[in-house]
Amino acid sequence: AKDRGKNNYQFYTNKLQELSLWKLEIENGLRKALENHQFELHFQPQFEMETGMIVGVEALVRWQHPDKGLVSPAEFISLAEETGLIVPLGYWVLKEACLQNKRWQNSGYNPMVISVNVSVRQLQNENFVEMVKDILCQTNLDPCYLELEITESMMLTQESSTSLLKQLNELGVSVAIDDFGTGYSSLCRLKQLPIDRIKIDKSFVDDIDHHPNQGAMVKTIIDMGHNLGFRVIAEGIETQAQADFLMKHECLHGQGYYFSKPLPAVQVEKLFN
Ligand code: C2E
Ligand code: CA
Ligand code: CA
Ligand code: CA
Repeated sequence: AKDRGKNNYQFYTNKLQELSLWKLEIENGLRKALENHQFELHFQPQFEMETGMIVGVEALVRWQHPDKGLVSPAEFISLAEETGLIVPLGYWVLKEACLQNKRWQNSGYNPMVISVNVSVRQLQNENFVEMVKDILCQTNLDPCYLELEITESMMLTQESSTSLLKQLNELGVSVAIDDFGTGYSSLCRLKQLPIDRIKIDKSFVDDIDHHPNQGAMVKTIIDMGHNLGFRVIAEGIETQAQADFLMKHECLHGQGYYFSKPLPAVQVEKLFN
């Protein structure tokens, strides 16, 4: 029995070593990727659904890996968060997104808002607001054309989040709550925060098709958002039926494969009005 205990112990330490080696490898990979400019942004347009007009784009990062090809953020964002690399990566994403939006404006396209995802880890950095200000200054982008997407859980965990949101608000950038409905923030608290928009999570949009009678949930979330004074957008729209349901219930803006997948800049701009 003693021996088996020892074997188990060895088994686990080996596994742990493997795991941390693997993480170290990815971490080094991410670090090198940043140095070697292997990250790129794709852009998913956001539509006014009735008219098909593009009202904004969300910037989504991808890793152009030399061997593996295009790697999805699902595979590296949480690791980048764990290792802290999300801070320099997030800086690159934000700057690149602002640069691209400014480039589009300079080429004569109708100005629109670019939405950028921000991790808790970035918000916890005490220089966050200063960094956003710097980037806006460097890229010469009007703050009204930048929206930061943060998740609901961030509101919950961050005591200082109120002051942070106020500072961002004063800076003139918008703030959206991403994946709305999946967190547990109190409505009272949300109402007090300078939030501009909520993004209804894909899981609720999926339900519209899969449980036709449960569309009531989505309707409730839309109404709740409006009653709190927020603008509302839905994500992950894949079918005409979902778009129709959302429009019928006053959610007029939407994003999803039904309209367009995230695309490289040169492809997405072909869709611009
Ligand atoms: P998210 O912010 O909720 O972004 C929406 C994700 O859903 C994107 O996946 C998008 O490509 C995908 N999507 C959009 N429409 C549809 C649809 O109709 N059907 C389906 N099945 N999927 C759809 P993506 O690009 O793989 O990003 C995954 C997540 O990675 C994002 O979720 C976001 O949390 C994170 N992420 C992406 N880029 C960044 C970034 O620059 N910074 C940070 N911190 N996180 C990022
Ligand atoms: Ca998002
Ligand atoms: Ca989302
Ligand atoms: Ca989501």
